[in-house]
Amino acid sequence: MNNHTINDTICALSTAPGVGAIAVIRVSGSKAISIADKVFSKSLKKAKSHTAHFGRIIDDARLVDEVVVVLFKGPESFTGEDTVEFSCHGSVFIQSEILRLLREEGCRMAKPGEFTMRAFLNQKMDLSQAEAVADLIAAESSGAHQLAMHQMRGGFSKEIGVLREKLIHFASLIELELDFAEEDVEFADRDAFNELLDELQVLLTKLIDSFQAGNVIKNGVPVAIVGAPNQGKSTLLNALLKEERAIVSEIAGTTRDTIEDELVVDGIRFRFIDTAGLRETKDHIESLGIERAMDKARGANIILLLIDAGLIINPEELKAHIDGFLKDLDTAAARVILVANKVDRRVDEWETLQPALDVIVNGYEQIQSGVLISALDGTNMEGLQSELSHQVNLGVNIGQDVIVSNARHHEALSNALESLVLVKKGLNTGITGDFLASDIRKSLHHLGEITGQITTDDLLGNIFGKFCIGK
Ligand code: GDP
Repeated sequence: MNNHTINDTICALSTAPGVGAIAVIRVSGSKAISIADKVFSKSLKKAKSHTAHFGRIIDDARLVDEVVVVLFKGPESFTGEDTVEFSCHGSVFIQSEILRLLREEGCRMAKPGEFTMRAFLNQKMDLSQAEAVADLIAAESSGAHQLAMHQMRGGFSKEIGVLREKLIHFASLIELELDFAEEDVEFADRDAFNELLDELQVLLTKLIDSFQAGNVIKNGVPVAIVGAPNQGKSTLLNALLKEERAIVSEIAGTTRDTIEDELVVDGIRFRFIDTAGLRETKDHIESLGIERAMDKARGANIILLLIDAGLIINPEELKAHIDGFLKDLDTAAARVILVANKVDRRVDEWETLQPALDVIVNGYEQIQSGVLISALDGTNMEGLQSELSHQVNLGVNIGQDVIVSNARHHEALSNALESLVLVKKGLNTGITGDFLASDIRKSLHHLGEITGQITTDDLLGNIFGKFCIGK
């Protein structure tokens, strides 16, 4: 498949670097057991797989640590090779001493993702599953976690595998026809093939379309909080994050930079961008802040346009205010929620404020909804949170649907679909078998790129290079 040398025995710290209660050092490769025997007080040669052993690490006569060693014999291990895991005390010194001893006995330090790459090369998992391992480690919300887990367990690969099998079947029949070109026979039933192509197109399109949701689940939704100075943007961010991250100030325009933070609602990660007051200013530093804030707001998927609820009873002024912001914001790419803040000052008017706010919202095509809150005392923060998650509207069922969240897969699927469209066109215009076969092979190639039947060293280097060391 490729010319990677996987003969070396590799070692690495698999827990996070730094001090911890315990640390795990992983060794994998054909010499894992014999190298472990040289540094560990008990021999693992005759030990059974999946067993734990308490003993000592000794350097000459010096006791380095008391450790627990877990043995996994290949192929029943993560990498498919003999693997030994040392659980030692989590001191940085002990970690480096054990790694040094292992290296002296013949281990090489693992490269980033090398354990997982070996798992792939030893066919313990396909490429999309291996990529899901990295996603799983990086997952910061329940949505991203479920997606990665599903992909790692092979849900995505299964779907692709079925498509590929069906295509291979037709490709082989069509190629067979080429061998009998002079006899003008058709082994591949064109009607059945047409049906399969339709089915494939529907499936591929569904997978390709799921990428938008997959991307949101994996990378989160950027949200910009915009509004004139003193409307309560920093207070709102603090209330949402329940932490004093932004500088709240009585003085207009003091939030001079953009501050990012995150909040998970209903399994979706929202990345908040607090922005400096957006208004005409002569203050140089502030205008720089405003420019940066506007740039950030332009990249947001959701914009919270914050106003003082007091403005609701003054529609003329409010309209001028909102228009001023909308003209600067790219509302085509984002959903806008009008957030009327400081309702704690208007508790008596609450009943009339919401209908009035709704009327204002209905007057703007670019504004999706209006929410009344008090960022200061926390009134209706749940309402705002549920409005955020409502606006994301993924259109997928995270637990059940197959969702593509990897840009590489998305590209390969799009390329596969493109060549399938050519196959279908060719079939219906009656192009010759060799052109048809070549387009089918292209589709197969792109589908194979996802699961790893088709790989290059560059591709593998690119994928596994982004993993952490020890994984
Ligand atoms: P920013 O300039 O938009 O970031 O506004 P700040 O968050 O700094 O708030 C400006 C002032 O409004 C501060 O004195 C806040 O305490 C106050 N404030 C913010 N939210 C509320 C609210 O919901 N109710 C009341 N009464 N005051 C608020």
